[in-house]
Parts: sequence; structure tokens; C-alpha cells
Amino acid sequence: MRLLWLSALACNGNAHALLNYPDFEEWQKGFEWLYHPLLPSTYSLIEVEKGIDGVEVLIVEGTLEKGMTKNTIPFQHLLERYASQAKWILTVGTCATFGGIFARGGADRNGVHFSGEEQLEEFTEFWEKSISLPGCPVQPEILAGTLSLLKEASPLPLDRMHRPKYFYAYTVHDGCTRNEYFEYKIDEHRFGRLEGCMFYEHGCQGTFTHGSCNKILWNGVNSKTRAGQPCMGCTEPTFPREGLWRTPKHMGIPAHMPLGVPRRAYLSLAGIAKAFRIERFYRPLMEDENG
Ligand code: SF4
Ligand code: SF4
Repeated sequence: MRLLWLSALACNGNAHALLNYPDFEEWQKGFEWLYHPLLPSTYSLIEVEKGIDGVEVLIVEGTLEKGMTKNTIPFQHLLERYASQAKWILTVGTCATFGGIFARGGADRNGVHFSGEEQLEEFTEFWEKSISLPGCPVQPEILAGTLSLLKEASPLPLDRMHRPKYFYAYTVHDGCTRNEYFEYKIDEHRFGRLEGCMFYEHGCQGTFTHGSCNKILWNGVNSKTRAGQPCMGCTEPTFPREGLWRTPKHMGIPAHMPLGVPRRAYLSLAGIAKAFRIERFYRPLMEDENG
């Protein structure tokens, strides 16, 4: 399968993250890079600008800015030319998908199909063949896995923002090792500790962020919330939110409820959970039980 990677306003984090895919060498034998900014490719960027044929998947990384050029060519021309040619378009990372961090730095900046939560009128002719892979960066397993599924012509159910459900139907909260603390409403006030949930005070967005970070661990080792840092909601159109390390509240109640949980149900459950004080949750996990 022939791939073309175009970078707009980007830190290249997604391009780098893919190199950390554990099975990268074996996986990429099934693909040809017509152009990738970091990997050996069939064509140079100058040749891509002049025009090449045979693109099957167009991969776009980075935020679009009105009027921006890639060397001498308007980026929009490149995008239109290769989006028309490709069978599939992948927007990799939150910048290419929703605008992301770079969209905060200037006017007229957005993702390919979205500006935050708003779906744009531009490029609608390509919407049906577009797949959104947000993340800051996208997990390499998600990008490699999506490309493998496309290559095998396997079914790829998508959500309303065209994120593959295999990877984005879950929330980051699924699989977090702090779930017991969440259930009993116990926050942790020191970052990096193993104990405590960060939903109540420290801005963790895991309960309403779609992603697989606690099911497909980063580098096969860990996730933010397992390591003791709140999920910042980087796969969502609202990323980056102001005040990432604090929980916005109304009258002492977190302003954002866990996905699909009505406020009334949350308040009832919280009241019951807080009525118990289970000593185990207030002790360091590594404490010697006899000490
Ligand atoms: S730290 Fe975040 S992801 Fe983990 S249990 Fe608490 S709310 Fe869920
Ligand atoms: S834990 Fe949250 S902020 Fe971190 S990579 Fe996953 S979705 Fe993004």
C-alpha cells in the first residue's frame, strides 16, 4: 500500500511517535513510503510538489493555516491534489484533526475537517474517505493498526467524528489503575504517587476522553494516569483546555461529568461512596502491612 505523508504546521510528533511502534520494521514491509519527512522514501518533497501518481493513503499531520505554503506551493493545492487521488485520507494527531495546540497561536488555523468541535465547509468532498486519528501525538499502534486494517480491507467502524471505534470507543478511564480511588472519591494531592484518582482536584479528563491509553500502554510500559499525571484530554476537539491541572467546579461539584453520567446520578453515588471511609485507600500502596 502506497503512503504519502504531508506535514502542515507541526512539531512532527506523530511522525516520530510512529518510529516507536514496537513492530515497526516488520510492519512497514507491507507499505511503501512515497514520501515521509523522516523515513527513506521513493520521492523527494520537491518531486511531490511537482506531482506524483499512485497515492493510496494520504496522511496529513499538523494544523492548516490559510495561505500557508510548503516550500513554494500553497499547501491547500497539495492537499487537494493528493486528497483527490487517494483512496483514504488520515488526519494524524489532534492538530490535523481539530486544530490542536497550533490553532491557539493564530487566526485562520484549523484541522482538515474541524475547527475544534465545529465541522468545516471546506474539503467536504473528501469527508467520506477521511479517518480521524487524534492524539498529541496519536499512539503508534493506532496509526499502524488503522493502516493495516485498511490494507486488509477489514471493516473499520467509525464514530461521528470518524475516529475508529476499535481505538476511540473507550475512555482513557477504562483500564486506569486508579479506578478504585475514583469509585470512593479519593483524590491524590501529590503528582507521581501511585495512590489516588485525579478527577476531583487535579483536572484528569480520563472519564470523558476517548482513547486507548490505558489499554494500549505507551511504549508498552505506562500511561499518564498510571504514572500519576492527569489525562489532558488530548484526543478531543476541546484540547488544549485552559488550566490543565485543576478541576473546574460549580458549587464544589466537577463541571464535567464522566461520559454519559447524569449529574443527579453522580451526586447520589458520590454521597454514598463518601459515607464510607475505607482505610486501605488512605495508606501508601507500598507500605509494609506489618509496619
Ligand atoms: S486518574 Fe483519571 S483516568 Fe484514572 S481513575 Fe481517576 S479519573 Fe479515571
Ligand atoms: S492519557 Fe490523555 S492526554 Fe495522555 S495521551 Fe492519552 S488521551 Fe492524551
